[in-house]
Amino acid sequence: MANLGRRFRAGLAPIVAAMLLPCLASAGEALSSLDYRRAGTEGLEHLKAIVRLDTSNPPGNEVRVTAYLAEQLRKAGLEPQLFESEPGRGSLMVRYKGSRTQKPLLIMSHIDVVPVEKDHWSVPPFESVVKDGYLWGRGTLDDKGMAAAELEVMLLLARNQVKLSRDVIFLAEADEEAGGTYGMDFLLAKHPDLFDAELVLNEGGRVIWDGKGKFQYVAVQTTEKIYQDFTLVAHGVAGHSSIPAGENPVERLAQAIGRIAAHPFPVVLNETTRAFFTGLAQALPGEMGDCAGKLEVPAEAKHCAEVLSRNPNFNAMLRTTCTPTLLKAGYKENVIPAEAQANLNCRILPETDVKQFGEMLRQAIGDPKVEVTPAREFNPPAPPSRSDTRLYAAIKKVAAGMAPGIPVVPYMSPGGTDSQVLRQRGMVAYGLLPFPIQEEDLRTMHANDEKIALEAFILGQEMLTRIVLETAR
Ligand SMILES: [Zn+2]
Repeated sequence: MANLGRRFRAGLAPIVAAMLLPCLASAGEALSSLDYRRAGTEGLEHLKAIVRLDTSNPPGNEVRVTAYLAEQLRKAGLEPQLFESEPGRGSLMVRYKGSRTQKPLLIMSHIDVVPVEKDHWSVPPFESVVKDGYLWGRGTLDDKGMAAAELEVMLLLARNQVKLSRDVIFLAEADEEAGGTYGMDFLLAKHPDLFDAELVLNEGGRVIWDGKGKFQYVAVQTTEKIYQDFTLVAHGVAGHSSIPAGENPVERLAQAIGRIAAHPFPVVLNETTRAFFTGLAQALPGEMGDCAGKLEVPAEAKHCAEVLSRNPNFNAMLRTTCTPTLLKAGYKENVIPAEAQANLNCRILPETDVKQFGEMLRQAIGDPKVEVTPAREFNPPAPPSRSDTRLYAAIKKVAAGMAPGIPVVPYMSPGGTDSQVLRQRGMVAYGLLPFPIQEEDLRTMHANDEKIALEAFILGQEMLTRIVLETAR
């Protein structure tokens, strides 16, 4: 990972080792004189501390993390506000005041995590094990890494009394992984006045590193796919399993799932994915790079879509996907049940009519004895955030300084984030996971052995700090 550090810092002005600047430093002074390595090391300690606080959702227990964050912020002289939507379901907001010539910048992260299948981990998931150059643990990537780095930014601003042109607000929210009822929905309903930001930086993007010393690209999430679960219920005839009569709903459900798995969801580009792939034509290696700019060249489109689809993330950007995630059937080994149920998790391209999409699923399954119903009321998507803003320019400038020549492209994330509800309210919201990472490490999110490279965290801490200072200078 040492190689990674050298490559990423190429082009930086010499760093003056000073954690504490004179009182009321300008943002420009802070940018050039902060000790980023020391800040990264400190941020990492905060990350270790909050990974140890189990906030698996359900049940959440996010107050464990908000208490920790509040203590750190108070020590730096800040005054955090704590919110508890239900006992244990805590969120925190804190504001560092600027001169207010511009509207605030909100940096946010969620502090709940998805549960773990403990037996499938090679280390205990809540003990912040450091091994092989990585910090291992649930939430290291999603999304406690961001929470720790954002906390560190607030501490740096407060300790150094940096003069800013706008307020910087830090929000650590509960319940993102289970829909946001106890986090974002609660906060927006009860405290809408706190959301006065013009610009938002949240999870959802990525800085991709190829693992061999080369940075590939920075993907700034400006929009996301539509999240929609569908419940499939297959009906049959209950009976003795020694004499199957051909009406077993488990078989029917399995066929329905098989048909969806084989369904060819078409490749459709939109404004964001078009800019994403075109922007990466020079940056991706080999055939992927050759193909990235040719997705709409008639003679090449089909072949190139196949080539790019070999990358699971690109595949999920090119088309709608649906995959089964839960199965429920049967209650005894020798009984055929009357019903079998599955959850089909669909990530739908934003331009799609979801009602018609449900109808299409029914047709693809083609079995009237399998009911297909949307699992929850569908939320209409917000338009993508535009990229002609101070924050986007800051991301480009900082990326160019830290990794010269690296392309910065808009990104439609296959995964959903809380940025969606903020875009619906007219805010410009971007997703960026500033920690340079290999695709294979990214796939540990929501999976077993989630981990972040120590060096990646330190560099990501620097990138985030610089972006905030550039945006608010
Ligand atoms: Zn997340």
